[in-house]
Amino acid sequence: MNKPSNIQSASCADAPVLKERGQREVFCGLTGIIWLHRKMQDAFFLVVGSRTCAHLLQSAAGVMIFAEPRFGTAILEEKDLAGMADAHQELDREVARLLSRRPDIKQLFLVGSCPSEVIKLDLQRAAERLTEEHAPHVRVLNYSGSGIETTFTQGEDACLASMVPGLPKTDARELLLVGALPDVVEDQAIGLLSDMGIGPIRVLPAARADGAPGVGDNTVYALLQPFLGDTDAELSKRGAKAIRAPFPFGEEGTTAWLKAIADEFGVDEATFDRVTAAPRARARKAISQAAEALRGKSVFFFPDSQLEIPLARFLTRECGMEAIEVGAPYIHMGLVRPDLELMPAGPTISEGQDVDLQLDRARAARPDLTVCGLGLANPLEAEGLTTKWAIELVFTPVHFYEQAGDLAGLFSRPVRRKEILAV
Ligand code: SF4
Repeated sequence: MNKPSNIQSASCADAPVLKERGQREVFCGLTGIIWLHRKMQDAFFLVVGSRTCAHLLQSAAGVMIFAEPRFGTAILEEKDLAGMADAHQELDREVARLLSRRPDIKQLFLVGSCPSEVIKLDLQRAAERLTEEHAPHVRVLNYSGSGIETTFTQGEDACLASMVPGLPKTDARELLLVGALPDVVEDQAIGLLSDMGIGPIRVLPAARADGAPGVGDNTVYALLQPFLGDTDAELSKRGAKAIRAPFPFGEEGTTAWLKAIADEFGVDEATFDRVTAAPRARARKAISQAAEALRGKSVFFFPDSQLEIPLARFLTRECGMEAIEVGAPYIHMGLVRPDLELMPAGPTISEGQDVDLQLDRARAARPDLTVCGLGLANPLEAEGLTTKWAIELVFTPVHFYEQAGDLAGLFSRPVRRKEILAV
């Protein structure tokens, strides 16, 4: 295995970032609709896009065909794209038809796509007009999931950021958890924090529109995902205060994240230890079993999910791996600095992508495990590299103590499989 030359600095937070602006290989922001629509139970996501967008959603969410879906695509036809029809009028008609059929919908997101962006369809104006038309029953918002500028987790960021300006104002001192996690994982986080006496705790996004959290100068918030940079900025604009910490992956990340919140709310050490001791021990044990196959192995991250930096911190510090390159589509330095500070200097930290150059670096390094998108995984496997699909890390519950062993297992399974096949 070739290793990169060591960068002489104390932690990855001091390391220079290799910025690349070439061709990218990632899914677009529409992908987020798959997990967002499950979380927000009275929301509908109407993609204003092409048949390609409709196919992407349909195949990504194949299982939904048995249920009444809460997402769809208003397809822009050639006459719309050529400016021969009034796309706004058609959109109004589609929305009216949808809402009359679905009185359960309280929030409607108009989701922009590559085609709607190319023809400069003003979805913000459409959302304002439609909100007026359908108020107070339905609130219409808009965001872009276009693949021209967004990577797939940015869809969630854009969606949540679009909600923040409309959240009610509150002066209450409340903790706001920000990010769409599976309910069972969210419940674990709320349970741990509540056991420390922290509350009231609110969540963005809420399950239902009438449960939307308030926000104001006394709100403190903790992000659950490192890709929520725009949402973070919108919350700051509303006067809320951020709690910065490593992200809650693995035992160490979860403990650091909880501790930062506990300190903000004045929780004493004894209470913190009492609440976290047992789940910490469980997490450590589960990680150590699952990480056996990972110790001493090298890992290379292609930019995909924006989870790369916290996950590299987890793999290097808790699973005994060595990171060669940690690529992320965008690096929100203010958000991931606490994770970077924990990682010893050495790996190349890269932002953006120039896929051919990065493939050359991966081939030269021959990592034991390559974390990348679906499009790169098969060719790299054919060249003998072991890969992990980054998108699985977003669709699988991986946050907090009880999932820490599963998180290590997601990485160790392909390594084990390779070892078994080699015997
Ligand atoms: S938004 Fe763009 S990248 Fe995404 S499915 Fe539609 S056309 Fe493709």
